[in-house]
Amino acid sequence: MERCCRRYLKVTEVCGQSWCELQVLYGFEYPLVLKAEKERAEVKAGASIHLAREREVHDVVQVCVVTREDRQAVKFLNLLGMISALQTGCCVRELPAIGMLEGVFMVGVIDELRYSDKGELVLNELKTRRHKSLPSEAQAKGHRLQVGLYKLLFDGMVRGSLSRDQVVEHLELRLERALGPGVLEHARNLGFRVAAFGDVLDLLLVNLKYCELPCIDLLRLEYCHQGSGDIVGSQDVPFDEDQLRAQLRHYLSFWFGQREPRGVDIEDAWKCRMCSYAEHCEWRRGSSQGSVTVHTDKKLK
Ligand code: SF4
Repeated sequence: MERCCRRYLKVTEVCGQSWCELQVLYGFEYPLVLKAEKERAEVKAGASIHLAREREVHDVVQVCVVTREDRQAVKFLNLLGMISALQTGCCVRELPAIGMLEGVFMVGVIDELRYSDKGELVLNELKTRRHKSLPSEAQAKGHRLQVGLYKLLFDGMVRGSLSRDQVVEHLELRLERALGPGVLEHARNLGFRVAAFGDVLDLLLVNLKYCELPCIDLLRLEYCHQGSGDIVGSQDVPFDEDQLRAQLRHYLSFWFGQREPRGVDIEDAWKCRMCSYAEHCEWRRGSSQGSVTVHTDKKLK
């Protein structure tokens, strides 16, 4: 984490490790390649489907932000609004989830939380697909990890385990930083009287502690076709906390510097065909594993 100048990790970064750990590291080392990746047509199409769905349940307002504290305060104000919405049984989308997991501060955004007819709190993660088919096991593995980690973060938040120090230390924010006029006005419109970033954080922590929201009961993955918007299928994901935490500890041991990053196994060498870093990849070139290149080429033919 020190080498990549990180004080926290995104859930999606850890999930990316289940596809290829080295690819995640290259994302830090070649940021322009990563930027180009994010601008691919399919990625943009997926983002616009998510935005359209978010707009079905949330009003979108423009808020002028100046500092990092302003930006984070807006996220926390959104989260406060979502806590109230969940308390009244409404559906929320794009809910920020943060907290400490296995010694690392993690951040993520939950696609959707809603109550089922039976009153269970259901997390629904939307994945867009270029083709009208369900994902391969290699992709689905990362998706299952993602929703499991979101549940751990959300459950931790509503159990009141998030602390002021964790947020300030890991997101490197200043409690006393005065909020900009745009954020102050936004907070006033929502009915909150705040002046500095620390006020918003305290408001959030108290509300989380006393919100009495339930933990997530059910994890679901929903796959939707990018072109038509048709639902391709959905899958319920089993939750085994011990297994999930063990998997997470394995991925985090790389971030703690306890082991070197791994590229893909020989049987997964097909992933390298669609990797933007293939040209630079030491693992693929075989400097780490002598036989990878030979097997990759065989498979590509
Ligand atoms: Fe991983 Fe293959 Fe890409 Fe290398 S080329 S980063 S091993 S997917």
